[in-house]
Amino acid sequence: MTEPNAAPSESPDSIRRRGFMLILSSPSGAGKSTLTRALLQDRELDLTLSISVTTRPRRSSEFEGIHYNFVTRQDFEKLRAHDDLLEWAEVHGNYYGTPRGPVEQVLASGRDMLFDIDYQGTQKVRAKAASDTVTIFILPPSMRELRSRLERRAEDAPEVIAKRLENSRNEIARWTMYDYVIVNEDVQQALVEVKSILVAERLKRSRSETGIADFVAKLLDEPF
Ligand code: 5GP
Repeated sequence: MTEPNAAPSESPDSIRRRGFMLILSSPSGAGKSTLTRALLQDRELDLTLSISVTTRPRRSSEFEGIHYNFVTRQDFEKLRAHDDLLEWAEVHGNYYGTPRGPVEQVLASGRDMLFDIDYQGTQKVRAKAASDTVTIFILPPSMRELRSRLERRAEDAPEVIAKRLENSRNEIARWTMYDYVIVNEDVQQALVEVKSILVAERLKRSRSETGIADFVAKLLDEPF
């Protein structure tokens, strides 16, 4: 997607590297939204959330442009027809899609983008830019806990919860597609694990080959 090594980091004193797409997927109720929120609140991580468009009705706790851009089916189809979506999928009977523009902008500036998308979207993004994609699958500690988290949230109608639970077995079976799998028994622990992945992935040589080469060339020119 981005040209190799084409993206200088904004910070002049760090080694330049390419930005990547950090994808979190999980069945509904596995605690992914809480993790996403905590990752975004940690300013030092400097992550930008990809805000999807969806035809799903807005929940009372959600805000337009923050959690999603809520659109009609007609608008969604227009975006799709104009190739404005990096990927899209039908999930639990609604359409969801990732607007292409913001992703390209963030990656081109050498920063990382966070995605909360399902396994279908993950597969599509990966097919387009495998080396710039890091994928994490979040599992609930048990099916009983998954159910109780969905019910505690109390934001979806019972039939919507039932559909999400029914779909969860199919979603969970996709864990083998992902680079990393985290069992979210304790959200603080899961957060530490996601941050550790982020730190390690940012240090991968392949993401900053030119930046390291420049740094090493200068280093080797220095006297002892
Ligand atoms: P929810 O309705 O609970 O917000 O999201 C339902 C599912 O849709 C979640 O698994 C979420 O990750 C997924 N999702 C949200 N946005 C997108 C998107 O832009 N593309 C795809 N493929 N899935 C999405």
